[in-house]
Amino acid sequence: MLYADIADTYEKIEGTTKRLEMTDYLVELLLKTPVKIIDKVVYLTQGKLYADFVGIELGLAEKLAIKAISQASGSSEKKVVEKFQKHGDIGLAAEEVFKNKKQTSLFSFGKEEELTVEKVYDNFEKIARAEGSGSQNKKIKLLVELFNVATPKEARYIARTVVGKLRLGIADMTILDALAIAFGEGKENRKYVERAYNIHPDLGYIAKLLASSGVESIKNVSIEVGVPIRAMLAERLPSLEQILDKMGGRAAFEYKYDGMRIQAHINSKSVELYSRRLEKLTSQFPDVARAIKSAFKGKEGIFDGEAVPVDINTGELLPFQMVSHRRGRKYGIEKIIEEIPVVLFLFDVLYLDGKDMTEVPYVERRKALESVIDKSEHVKFAHRLVSSDLAEIKKYFDKAIEDGCEGLVAKNIGEESIYRAGAREFLWIKYKRDYKIELVDTLDLVIVGAFAGKGRRKGTYGALLMAAYNPEQDRFETVCKLGSGFTDDQLANLPNMLGEYKIKDKHPRVWSEIKADYWFVPKVVIEVVGAEITLSPTHTCARDMLEKGSGLAVRFPRFTGKWRDDKSPEEATTTKELVEMYKAQIKNLEK
Ligand code: AMP
Repeated sequence: MLYADIADTYEKIEGTTKRLEMTDYLVELLLKTPVKIIDKVVYLTQGKLYADFVGIELGLAEKLAIKAISQASGSSEKKVVEKFQKHGDIGLAAEEVFKNKKQTSLFSFGKEEELTVEKVYDNFEKIARAEGSGSQNKKIKLLVELFNVATPKEARYIARTVVGKLRLGIADMTILDALAIAFGEGKENRKYVERAYNIHPDLGYIAKLLASSGVESIKNVSIEVGVPIRAMLAERLPSLEQILDKMGGRAAFEYKYDGMRIQAHINSKSVELYSRRLEKLTSQFPDVARAIKSAFKGKEGIFDGEAVPVDINTGELLPFQMVSHRRGRKYGIEKIIEEIPVVLFLFDVLYLDGKDMTEVPYVERRKALESVIDKSEHVKFAHRLVSSDLAEIKKYFDKAIEDGCEGLVAKNIGEESIYRAGAREFLWIKYKRDYKIELVDTLDLVIVGAFAGKGRRKGTYGALLMAAYNPEQDRFETVCKLGSGFTDDQLANLPNMLGEYKIKDKHPRVWSEIKADYWFVPKVVIEVVGAEITLSPTHTCARDMLEKGSGLAVRFPRFTGKWRDDKSPEEATTTKELVEMYKAQIKNLEK
């Protein structure tokens, strides 16, 4: 097949914004493509060589593409760069350079060699796979080979594709439409094509199967370990009342962890992890891969969950940003793992020892999940509450927020509650707060206890138990565990510094329901910032003042570095002030 056929189609697609027209052009192209290479044509149209999860990507540096254009055209690199800057698009730059060359070339008459799709794909693949010393020159040479034969129009698309910027604006769903029209034998089969795509999201594979064996073969596509399934997504409703109602009066409410979605695929040979966008994540989360492999008691399985960074000392969840640092990192991962470990909270199982679990209702899936995974330090199950009691659910929501989560995901527990790959429907409904508050004021809190350090903090304290002052009762009421913001030196020095205040048991003026490893006379005041103030069933600060059974807590607290030696503990932030701050926060939100 000639690459010119593809280039012509791309040009037509670029000329329209209408989805239906795009689909027609694609159908036309698909129908004239030999079955043998239809997968390649589909990938090329997506600007790729393989489905994303395979992990072989085009993305040649523009600098190298410019060199290749220059070598193939005889124009200086400077000239090519000028054109690139003029158009802001490597494709148009290449096209213009080669057009000029054609006009001046003596050899542009007569029959020329024509570029085939196979040749283009083949050279692209070699470029994508080339590595090590000398690979840059090799890549340039492979690209020059293509440019030597390409027409200016073909050069436009070759250049864009090779740098990873084809960007025709065709959504996967449009390609799926085109495939269903071209080979689907009628509209009623569209749902089978879509189902196949949802559990095997590889458009090249689907295209080849459809074109070669028809719709019946598509119905038999099944889940495979090593091929990520499109993630099920959650709908949203504005209140817990409406959610409970929509769920038929009773549902499972799971913590909505704020981390990174991970789909883990395990068999006897390997473990692979995929992101929500179906890219391979294994090299960024080798710790998660190891942890789930050893937690799994079966032979083959696919699991869905959320990886969340944790403070190894307090055991508390950390803000998501601390795990996002891992993205794109290839080196130094082991060090990051040690400093900011993650916990994988599993909430679903999609495949288990030969059985497609996506067709099984939620309650059974959860049971199966809990029976094949041995919980460990780094693999846990999503915290949940099955309830029909609105007051209880509201309290549970507060607890989720206090524990560092974004809110709750309600899950349908009826017979219909299958895992709908790729769908955003009301079987799952999320309830989170869309706002983020930053506490502007700092707090001056009193150190009343401490917890033994782990990992790098062995031998010192891992976290401190902090309290506000309640003058009416003349007591110190806890508001948070504080583990962040300390330098290594400060940490090492803590036991020494606090030594003189150490006591065997909780001080009588301290009200705490948390059991600390060490207790202190409330004396030392330090400055703390936090993300916000939340209702808390665990901390005692302002207990029952706002809501029965709830106190207040500072979320994501951090030491500012300031020791408030100038303040006595009775001058620390008071519980009343915290109540006022909490109320002001709510008021701001209502504005
Ligand atoms: P959103 O990104 O706001 O649409 O929320 C959906 C995301 O919440 C999912 O893609 C998961 O990454 C995440 N999530 C966290 N906890 C859960 C849970 N228990 N069940 C389902 N999704 C969860």
